Amino acid sequence: MKKVILENISKMPTSINRVLMNLNLFPSLIYGYNYSNYYKLIKKERSYNNEADLLRLINFSIDNVPYYNKYKKVSDINDFQEQFEFIDKDIVSKYFEEFKSRTISHKDYEVVTTGGTGGNPLKLLVPKNRYIIELGIMHKMWSTVGYRHHVRAVIRNQRLLDNVDYIINPITKEVIFDGFRLNNNYFQKIYDIIKLFNIQYIHAYPSTAYEFSRFIYDNKLDISFVKAFLSGSENVYKYQKEFITKKLGLLFYNWYGHSEKLVLGGYCSHSDNYHIEPRYGYFELIDKEGNPINTPGEVGEIVGTTLNNYGMPLIRYKTDDFAEYVGNYCEKCGRRVTLIKNIEGRRSGNKIYGADGSTVTATALNFHDDLYMALAGLQYVQKEKGILDVLVIKNDNFETNHDLRLKAYFKSKFSHGTIINIKYVDRLLKKPNGKFVELISEVK
Ligand SMILES: [Zn+2]
Repeated sequence: MKKVILENISKMPTSINRVLMNLNLFPSLIYGYNYSNYYKLIKKERSYNNEADLLRLINFSIDNVPYYNKYKKVSDINDFQEQFEFIDKDIVSKYFEEFKSRTISHKDYEVVTTGGTGGNPLKLLVPKNRYIIELGIMHKMWSTVGYRHHVRAVIRNQRLLDNVDYIINPITKEVIFDGFRLNNNYFQKIYDIIKLFNIQYIHAYPSTAYEFSRFIYDNKLDISFVKAFLSGSENVYKYQKEFITKKLGLLFYNWYGHSEKLVLGGYCSHSDNYHIEPRYGYFELIDKEGNPINTPGEVGEIVGTTLNNYGMPLIRYKTDDFAEYVGNYCEKCGRRVTLIKNIEGRRSGNKIYGADGSTVTATALNFHDDLYMALAGLQYVQKEKGILDVLVIKNDNFETNHDLRLKAYFKSKFSHGTIINIKYVDRLLKKPNGKFVELISEVK
């Protein structure tokens, strides 16, 4: 649906789209009154107790969704946590039909497939009007860096024809660039257009935000008219954020979401902890045994339950994303919501194999800050067990002893006989969907 709209829009003359985009129509006209009312409702909310929403969804599901018929009605959260088992991608794929509500009105739902990394993508039914809540909460999160339905430059997963530099979506107020053409010539074109249009918000993956920032910095271009990068959907690395905020002096706003759309949360104006949005979904963090984590500093897996998808409700879905529990109150902004940090996405795909078959996660290969400060990028590529390529982009601080330290460091982390090749490069690799991951592994 979105694709069809975009195709039609891209056929309209850019000049007309540009005029439409810059008309300051009220969001209610563009997204409808339901969106507008929802946005007003949540905009100033400091806390929200979603337990009643959860129990309503759970008890509805027990009555109407075949997969959950085996459970008895629940009266409170403890009851829910004691009874309900966890589900995951494999279970949902296997029992797709049984996760559908018997009362679903098919005209109000559509099928989406989540872009799985390797293996089968997951098929889900989602309500067509989900944008009311999704956009409402997303726009609320972005408002913490001053975003008020501004025009955005978008550099994400859109491919454009070779002779097209950008297209404009006047409804969502997006100037959309090709996310697969990230070279210096094209970065210059992107810069020229965002400057010409005076665009203040750039919506890009963290890795793209970082690469674009390096281009701006290296070429001494004026970027003072831009207020912030809006960045989600990838792990964030310290060197990326430090470069953007310290060298360029721009705000960097990051949020966490995942393709099954059960949990959403982002930074606030004063803190890089992720504030979990209680109206979006029911959040749990669990340890290896499945017990809830509520001790600051403990790390566990993010588990989500929908509050809004009555057509195909996922309950206690294990995301394979991990995070550290911080607390349930942000002193900086005064919101009483769950806070997490150090999110590590899709952990099971994050293993590097040594020569003897033992594994180390890419995340565990954290080294000291002063070594990081000599690097402008780092990525691991493993094509077979026991051999690891480490791609490194040097920055101005890089010296010969850094090379020796890198070699010694990686050697110390892997079993005897593991071959480590450090390769100095100008650019890191992206996956076919345009995203950056720290480890690209072909080992099954
Ligand atoms: Zn806060």
